[in-house]
Amino acid sequence: MKPIGILGGTFDPIHYGHLRLAEEMLELAQLQQIRFIPAGIPPHRDTPQVSAQHRSAMVKLAIADQPAFVLDEREVNGANKCYTVDTLHQLRSELGETQPICLLMGGDAFLQLHTWHEWEQILTLAHIVVGYRPGFTLEKRIHNAAPQLYQHYRQRLCSVNLLSQQPAGGIAELAIPKLEISATMIRNRVAENRTIRYLLPATVANYIYQHHLYTPC
Ligand code: ATP
Repeated sequence: MKPIGILGGTFDPIHYGHLRLAEEMLELAQLQQIRFIPAGIPPHRDTPQVSAQHRSAMVKLAIADQPAFVLDEREVNGANKCYTVDTLHQLRSELGETQPICLLMGGDAFLQLHTWHEWEQILTLAHIVVGYRPGFTLEKRIHNAAPQLYQHYRQRLCSVNLLSQQPAGGIAELAIPKLEISATMIRNRVAENRTIRYLLPATVANYIYQHHLYTPC
C-alpha cells in the first residue's frame, strides 16, 4: 500500500523550500499523496504573524496545480493548541490500522523531535521521513543534539522502500538539496519592501500583497 505523506508547518507563508521538499519526497518515497496540514496555534514556537485562515489560503493557492498535494485544515479549525500526536491519532483512525503514514520533515525539524509532545508515541503512529542536505551527516548531529532520539534513530532507521510494508515505526532519510529559503526571510523581505519573486509561487506573493500581509502597521 503506497504511503500517505503528512507535511505540517506554520506555512507563514508557504514557499518553494516546502514545495520542493514535498515534491522530492513524493517521488523518492513513492507516496500516493501528501497532506499539507497548517498548524493552527503551533505548540512549539511563536504565534504565526498572520491568521490560520490566511496561511491556509496561501497553502491552497500554492498546491493548486499538483493533484497529489492536498490541503488538510483540521488543525486550523481548532481553537486550542493542536499537537501532532493528536492529529496522527485522528488520521490513524480515519485511514485504518494498515495504511502506511509518513510524517515528513526537514533535518532541522527532526533534530527537535524529542521536544515535541509525546514524541515517542508519534514514532509508533507514523513513519518519519527526514530530508537532509546531500553531503551532510545527520547521525552525528542527532548523537550530539539529542541522545534520547538517537537510540530510536539507530533502531528504526530503514530504507525508504520498506515504508510501504509497515503502517508506522520506521525512520528513513532522503538526501534532498535544500533551497535556502525560509518563511522568516520572506516575512522580513516584505516588511522591508524588498522583492520576494521566485522565492514562492506568484499566486502566493499576489495574495500577500492583496491582503497587506507582513507589512508593518
Ligand atoms: P520560519 O522561517 O517561520 O521558521 P520555515 O520556512 O522554516 O518557517 P515551517 O513552516 O516552520 O517553515 O517548516 C515546515 C517544515 O518544512 C519543517 O519540517 C521544515 O524543516 C521544512 N522546511 C522549511 N524550509 C525548508 C527548506 N527551505 N527546505 C526544506 N525543508 C524546509
